[in-house]
Amino acid sequence: MTIEPQTLASHRDYAPEAAAAGVLAGVGTGTAVNTATDTPVDFTPLTSDFFGYEDALSDEEKHLILRLRAFLEAEVRPIVNELWARAEFFPKSIVKGLAGLGLFGQPWPETQDFPNTAVFRGWVALELARIDASVATLVGMQNGLVMGSIAVAGSDEQRAEWLPKLASGDLLGAFGLTEPLSGSDAAQGLRTTATRTGDKWVINGAKRWIGNGSISDITIIWAKDTADGQVKGFIVETSTPGYSATRIENKQALRIVQNADITLTDVVVPESQRLAKSKSFRETAAVLRLTRAEVAWAAVGNSIGAYDAAVAYANERVQFGKTIGSHQLVQDLLAKSLGNITASIGMVTQVSHMLDQGLQRDEHSSLAKLYTTARMRETVAWCREIFGGNGIVLDYDVIRFFADSEAIYSYEGTREMNTLIVGRAITGTAAFV
Ligand SMILES: Cc1cc2nc3c(=O)[nH]c(=O)nc-3n(C[C@H](O)[C@H](O)[C@H](O)COP(=O)(O)OP(=O)(O)OC[C@H]3O[C@@H](n4cnc5c(N)ncnc54)[C@H](O)[C@@H]3O)c2cc1C
Repeated sequence: MTIEPQTLASHRDYAPEAAAAGVLAGVGTGTAVNTATDTPVDFTPLTSDFFGYEDALSDEEKHLILRLRAFLEAEVRPIVNELWARAEFFPKSIVKGLAGLGLFGQPWPETQDFPNTAVFRGWVALELARIDASVATLVGMQNGLVMGSIAVAGSDEQRAEWLPKLASGDLLGAFGLTEPLSGSDAAQGLRTTATRTGDKWVINGAKRWIGNGSISDITIIWAKDTADGQVKGFIVETSTPGYSATRIENKQALRIVQNADITLTDVVVPESQRLAKSKSFRETAAVLRLTRAEVAWAAVGNSIGAYDAAVAYANERVQFGKTIGSHQLVQDLLAKSLGNITASIGMVTQVSHMLDQGLQRDEHSSLAKLYTTARMRETVAWCREIFGGNGIVLDYDVIRFFADSEAIYSYEGTREMNTLIVGRAITGTAAFV
């Protein structure tokens, strides 16, 4: 039996008709929508959320999740494989649509107009990633790394100037920490320098892997102050002379995200664009602490994307006269995948509760990231296996989740780095060098 790839979406529990019913009104304008609702929300947790954790969200949060699902199904899912194949970025309408849903700037008072619990933000990351990890990465970068840097380390004036423009999607941001010669050791190994002359800074150096660095309007550049040797953050407008970015070609994961090599040659930045509170790597780490747990959530979403596709395929593909899902060994792969997903949702839910309660430390988000990404790698491989040969054809989605998992596994702290952070907490001894 031949299964047409497009039939595979039919099992999903979103409601495309919701778009027609108006849940998407206002989305795409770049203006945050009014999310208040007095009507009960007809909400079904994902079938892949086996223990129903998502049902604990408030009605308002569920309403927002429904809007997000409708948007992703209507606007993102139909084009995502084509963009992935061509390694092409999302159209502006997607960026504006995400902004219209209020996804940029959730936790910051200047821009947030709906619930901002870490648990809710986690569910947003999961819902995004179960459709496509690149769209989840886009939101994670704009909302977390870029706006987070300005919110955590910027002055009130800087927050007021930059956050609303980023929240509306009028400006696209990038986060420039990693360098060609410094990845895992960024806390001590940065070579990019910033030298103050009067009320200006001159930045020189190179960055690598910077997500959307070749298409961003501003990039947060982390550089060492030549006066005191400490890392500081700068809001660099990419039109500034001396800023040059080249897309990294031939990337085989997260192909929609435009990662770039950046060179900075005598880039002049006014003191007003140095993140006012960034005095050392401590502030950089504070930003990463915020975002790492959300990457753990995205890893679960990416697993769910592969799992949902595999369940649908297993229920349709017939071999030996019955659907492959009725063979015991295929059920074993599905049950193990669901076990990984369910355990991971429990872990990320609790780590986000801890953030909401002010109890989350680096080792907590590190454990969540290293655990869920390791489970994700197992899960996407098992799910791909269920497709046999079709599992390596992009039209069936699963290979995209499989490939994208490799990027999620490595960025925002590799498994080894997060293990060493947890190991330090366990033993009291740092073993990084
Ligand atoms: C798709 C993608 C998007 C990214 N986006 C951004 C971005 O927007 N902005 C940004 O600044 N960066 C970004 N990064 C960079 C990312 O954060 C780094 O790739 C990551 O931190 C690892 O650094 P590295 O690639 O230089 O690997 P390396 O640091 O060279 O590490 C290579 C290997 O050695 C291991 N290793 C290193 N040191 C030790 C040790 N002490 N003990 C044990 N093992 C060790 C690592 O765990 C890894 O397995 C992105 C990366 C990817 C792949």
